[in-house]
Amino acid sequence: MLDKELLEILACPLCKHPVALQGEKQDTLVCGHPPCGCRYAIKDEIPVMLIDEAQRPCPSCGTQRDWDADHDTLRCAKCGSTFDARPEIARPAGK
Ligand SMILES: [Zn+2]
Ligand SMILES: [Zn+2]
Repeated sequence: MLDKELLEILACPLCKHPVALQGEKQDTLVCGHPPCGCRYAIKDEIPVMLIDEAQRPCPSCGTQRDWDADHDTLRCAKCGSTFDARPEIARPAGK
C-alpha cells in the first residue's frame, strides 16, 4: 500500500495534475485530468511516474496514444485527438 503522504505529493509528470489510486489492488495511479488520463503503474510499491512507461489511453477511443516529448503532446493515431500538456501561458497568444 502506497504511503498517503507520498500520494499527496505525486502529480502527473505530463500535465502536473494530482493522481489517484485505482485498480483492484490499488496498483495504478491515474491522472485526475480527464483529457490526459495517463495511468502509472506501481511496481514493488514504487510509482513509475514516467510518461514513456505509462498507459496513455485516448479519452475518445481508448487507443494508446503516442507521446511526443518535443511538444509535450499526446496524439491518438486512431481518432486523431491530441492533448497538449504545455501550460497555457507558454502558448502564443491568439492562436
Ligand atoms: Zn496528466
Ligand atoms: Zn483516439
